[in-house]
Amino acid sequence: YQELSRSRSEDNATEQISPTNGLIARAGPPTIVEGIEGCIGNTPLFRIKSLSDETGCEILGKAEFLNGAGQSSKDRVALSMIEIAEEQGILTPHSGDTIYEGTSGSTGISLATLARAKGYLAHMYGIRHPLLPTQWPKPLMHMQPSCLPSDQAIEKSNLLLKLGAIVDRVPPAPIVEQANFVNRARALAKTHTASSGISSASADEQSDLPAANERMTRGRGFFADQFENEANWRAHYEGTGPELYAQCGGRIDAFVAGAGTGGTISGVARFLKPLLPRLTVVLADPQGSGLFNRVVYGVMFDVKEREGTRRRRQVDTIVEGIGINRVTANFEAGKEMIDDAVRVTDAQALAMARWLVEKDGIFIGSSSAVNCIAAVKTARKLGPGHRIVTVLSDSGSRHLSRFWAKAGDVGGAVDTKLENVMNA
Ligand code: PMP
Repeated sequence: YQELSRSRSEDNATEQISPTNGLIARAGPPTIVEGIEGCIGNTPLFRIKSLSDETGCEILGKAEFLNGAGQSSKDRVALSMIEIAEEQGILTPHSGDTIYEGTSGSTGISLATLARAKGYLAHMYGIRHPLLPTQWPKPLMHMQPSCLPSDQAIEKSNLLLKLGAIVDRVPPAPIVEQANFVNRARALAKTHTASSGISSASADEQSDLPAANERMTRGRGFFADQFENEANWRAHYEGTGPELYAQCGGRIDAFVAGAGTGGTISGVARFLKPLLPRLTVVLADPQGSGLFNRVVYGVMFDVKEREGTRRRRQVDTIVEGIGINRVTANFEAGKEMIDDAVRVTDAQALAMARWLVEKDGIFIGSSSAVNCIAAVKTARKLGPGHRIVTVLSDSGSRHLSRFWAKAGDVGGAVDTKLENVMNA
């Protein structure tokens, strides 16, 4: 990587590259690492053969599902948020401090895994259907969990429970109301960590899980806050971005990614854009998300209306992990660097997911499928010969009960045309 920096210097790029030399050097060669935390980052970047051959471009996938703790790109973010809290003295390893977060998805899984590795408790809030009783998941878990409607595939909350996290599902509510799952996680963290003990626990009248109170013996902890915590985009600025730059030898024409919190697209764009001024950054946006309009037309629908109680889900799509109807701090951090946006339908994402298994043996989750549709569209827009990098955030095995249940079984459809996928 020093060599890489040197050769860039010889190309008169010295001023641009020198402030980031340290970051690029972090994407160093493989070695023995310390614990499961050491298995986060430095993920492979590979040529997606079928899509590259079909488009005449190089379409490269960053294998983020190979992050070792929670097996998604969220490992980077969870580790970054925890480490910064530790540096600030908010969390103390092996203390039993509690990590609170509003998610029953990938971030929750990464936080819960790292909580185990580092000796913390994890308390995660997810959304549940308004008609379900408040005591879920405990009593209903003994019934038929796979039948429960949810914003996330049931395997995600099952996994959280196996990791020993507390999973608290609350009815959907707009982000501007206290009853929203993110706000409830924040409020619970505040209630439990404001005083030195747990006496204030009863103040959270709506808490569904008395067990949560029992386990919070120290009254210490922190609200991870993936949407607003800037440790999120910084994890990608310091990790994903430099890795991509090094892996590509500094040649990337377009970077394509969806936004759930915005951390990935902002962090990578902020790292790469100053080094590669001609880079095109493209947002891949699922149906129902408001970010496409924000990027293309500069407008956003009213948050209360769009993330409102009328809808069970925040964003009306089968896709998990990306798509949002507000500008978070992590999206804000990089939004000026996004050049274009591609809207992707559920049908396209499902068809692409099947295509990638059939053609390449790549089994990915829903957000990665959205990214791949947008990568192909970008390739067609730029024309043959360009290099397009995208993110494969997690594996299809996290999506068996929702996304892949809809995608159906992969059969003998080896003669599918890419056109059919793009026009699905
Ligand atoms: N894919 C999946 C599966 C995710 O869980 C997330 C995070 N919510 C993303 C993509 C998007 O990443 P970001 O939050 O950095 O925008």
